[in-house]
Amino acid sequence: MFQNFKMVSRLVFGRGCFNQLDDIIQKKRTKNRSFMIFVTDDVFKDTDLAARIPLKSGDLMLWVNVDNEPTTMLVDMLTEKIQSFSESLAAGVIGIGGGSTMDIAKAISLMLTNPGSATDYQGWDLIKNPAVWHVGIPTLAGTGAEVSRTTVLVGPDKKLGLNSDYTVFDQIVLDPELIADVPIDQRFYTGMDCYIHCVESLNGTYLNTFSKSYGEKAMELCREVFLNDDPEGDDKLMMASYFGGMSIAYSQVGICHALSYGLSFVLGIHHGVGNCIVFDQLEEFYPEGVREFREMMAKNDIRLPASLRKVSDAEMKKMVDVALVLEPLWENALGKEWRLMMTRERIEVLYGLILGQ
Ligand code: NAD
Ligand code: ZN
Repeated sequence: MFQNFKMVSRLVFGRGCFNQLDDIIQKKRTKNRSFMIFVTDDVFKDTDLAARIPLKSGDLMLWVNVDNEPTTMLVDMLTEKIQSFSESLAAGVIGIGGGSTMDIAKAISLMLTNPGSATDYQGWDLIKNPAVWHVGIPTLAGTGAEVSRTTVLVGPDKKLGLNSDYTVFDQIVLDPELIADVPIDQRFYTGMDCYIHCVESLNGTYLNTFSKSYGEKAMELCREVFLNDDPEGDDKLMMASYFGGMSIAYSQVGICHALSYGLSFVLGIHHGVGNCIVFDQLEEFYPEGVREFREMMAKNDIRLPASLRKVSDAEMKKMVDVALVLEPLWENALGKEWRLMMTRERIEVLYGLILGQ
């Protein structure tokens, strides 16, 4: 069966296009569904951007802190807060921030129309009902969360997305001006998420011409951004994220992502930097990609965190468990017989390398 790919329905792109948001959401307000929920990264509190958010009376602003990656518990809590704010359904949910904030917005839009806890829907195609209309506005570029069919959440026993066609944003607003002030390290780590998406997609067994076309273009853009001082870097990075996301949407990511999920579940390390720490140790699997990644690190004067804390045997077991749940990622990387190549013991050896222990 070929995947019948659900894409973002509408998109605006361009410097300053954030100003069009009011006009876009106004059309979605109806008599019965009149209010909007804004889910905004609290890094923007009291900033010029906050003042430009078209919040109207009756709307709800939820400032979210993403120092820790989003959890199913946070999503449940925010959903309950919205439900006690109004008995009627919101006209829309608008996420303004990086991958974490966009994922929280996606998850809320799903949980407003699907009963139970977000934990119940961690997996593939478990969501039953369409989401509330939802909009993604990235303020960091690289994750591809703006185009993906998942919202990655940390649950009580796994880090796994709510993967479904309903998860995909109905509208995205890609304004390169919004990523202008991202700190240099964060810009690099999130940008490398995109670069690694491309490496894993282009070297995977699921590769096809659709994914290859997007992946190659995204990679070319990453090179222009991180190996040349491109004056249009912000515009290009935003498009790289979009294209990288499109590439993996019709293929898959691979070993780096599988291991990075385990690392972030146990040690709480953020996705972007976690990917970089893991990828740096994967020369055996992605030799050219790792060489170029190191070139990009040197060019951008990035130093990865020196050492990670020691993990106990129980934590190591948990990391391996979390990584192994991600079967499609391993299959994409190593083929249908991946279990013969990637045993628990081998994953432990890889984690040992990554942790330097
Ligand atoms: P993030 O959203 O976790 O944010 C990282 C840091 O940057 C935070 O401190 C945030 O406050 C800050 N920040 C955001 N925008 C800023 C700006 N314009 N200026 C200054 N600071 C800013 O980072 P991310 O790398 O974009 O996202 C990582 C998250 O995305 C993880 O939770 C990961 O699981 C998820 N993810 C989701 C998908 C998907 O398809 N849904 C794909 C990859 C990653
Ligand atoms: Zn990623």
